[in-house]
Amino acid sequence: MTYYHKLLKLCEFDEAELLSQKERIERAFQILELGPADMEIAEARIKKYFDTGLLGVRKAIGVWFKELFDLVLSREEGKKIIYYGYPPFQYIGLAIKAAAKSKNDFYVGCPEAVISQTLGQFFHKLLPVLEAGEDAGLPPGHAMCSLLQVKVGALEKGIIPVPDLSIATSYFCDMGPKSDELLQYKFGYPVEYIDSCLDSAWGTWPEYDHETVRYLGAQLDKLFCTIKDKFAIEINDETWQQGRLIAGRLYSAINKLTGLLAADPVPLSVVDSELILNFPIGCTGSVMDEGAEAIEILAEEVKKRVENGFGVAPKESPRVLIVLHSISDPVVNRLIEDAGLAVPSTMALLPPPPEPESYPFTTLGEKRAEKAMFGGAYHSTYGMVKRIQASLKYADVDGIIYNYPFACRPFVCGNKLTKLHIENETGLPTLLLDMDPQDERYYSIGALRTRLETFAEMLRARKAAA
Ligand code: SF4
Repeated sequence: MTYYHKLLKLCEFDEAELLSQKERIERAFQILELGPADMEIAEARIKKYFDTGLLGVRKAIGVWFKELFDLVLSREEGKKIIYYGYPPFQYIGLAIKAAAKSKNDFYVGCPEAVISQTLGQFFHKLLPVLEAGEDAGLPPGHAMCSLLQVKVGALEKGIIPVPDLSIATSYFCDMGPKSDELLQYKFGYPVEYIDSCLDSAWGTWPEYDHETVRYLGAQLDKLFCTIKDKFAIEINDETWQQGRLIAGRLYSAINKLTGLLAADPVPLSVVDSELILNFPIGCTGSVMDEGAEAIEILAEEVKKRVENGFGVAPKESPRVLIVLHSISDPVVNRLIEDAGLAVPSTMALLPPPPEPESYPFTTLGEKRAEKAMFGGAYHSTYGMVKRIQASLKYADVDGIIYNYPFACRPFVCGNKLTKLHIENETGLPTLLLDMDPQDERYYSIGALRTRLETFAEMLRARKAAA
């Protein structure tokens, strides 16, 4: 038996896969500097924090391992590599995959998300990567984004390959493109910057300035030209739709599961629902079929829990919407339920409000840019706040936990305005909880617990008085 056998069997790798993938798995763990002791740590963490009694959860964890192997081996396996930043611009990665003549010739994904989910959540081994990122140009104490420290550190340590193209997130944040600029200088890879303007006037969403759409649209059309020139991949309206269809099974499984999470008592832990959130955001590979299958299985298991009245928090516990999960630390995610709060949804899982009528823009870039304005987050702080508020009608909650990465510009800039606006407009108490989704050195579990327990106590008192 190999040193990783027990761990991967726990995550539903079958014997045939372990045999046929032996060389790949061992090479991947070698690149990642993971040995027998790390396998024991991961096995213990997975059993401790995740609900491994659920087949869907075990399979979802297995899919993350497969995405990790595909990422770290992509260069050695002769793939062309395209990275996109976090958050990706809609489903750009899938559109590229859909338009490529042979999907297997490409690795397309968000490496910092894959590394955080796996090295962080399962192996508790993100710290050396973060430190490598700090040494390589994103120093500590300067409120640098830890997600980007993961990307810089992983490249610096050689655990992820140098890409053939990186798509920078200038449509949402400044740190992503600045880090890519640093990496472009250090590693010499090309970067496509997708600039936009997020400061539409307060009070205008869902209206938008046509020039903002034309500018962002031109940036996207420029990206499509680059992809055609570099990889002979033509992205057009048709392939964009095909990209959406590739993820159709995955999205439909996610929708089914999230519908079930609305039950009281809430039937699945935040720790486990986190596993699926970054499937469509971070990856475009194994996730599309095997990830969708894992969620379909999970949805069936959760449905039985709902029928049996099973909950991870007691029935009638205060229900909260959270803005983010930690994508590297299950301990933080578990804290919310430990405080007696039930989490039926997160901001990312809420359905978008109905869109107004489209303006007849002509290029694909402009049409996608207009959609981005309707989505709120790429429009302005006001757009983001109103988008959250409009979606709240789909969520039966007693309060909101705006848990934001303390070093993330887009989230930090709008946090107090969001709290004021949401509390004034909806009456829902909103807790601003600063944390970090990748770097556990930036928060104290004890301090987070105290704040969550106090918030839970207040929500319980409000419910009792209502
Ligand atoms: S600063 Fe925020 S938006 Fe920018 S890459 Fe980091 S987490 Fe993402």
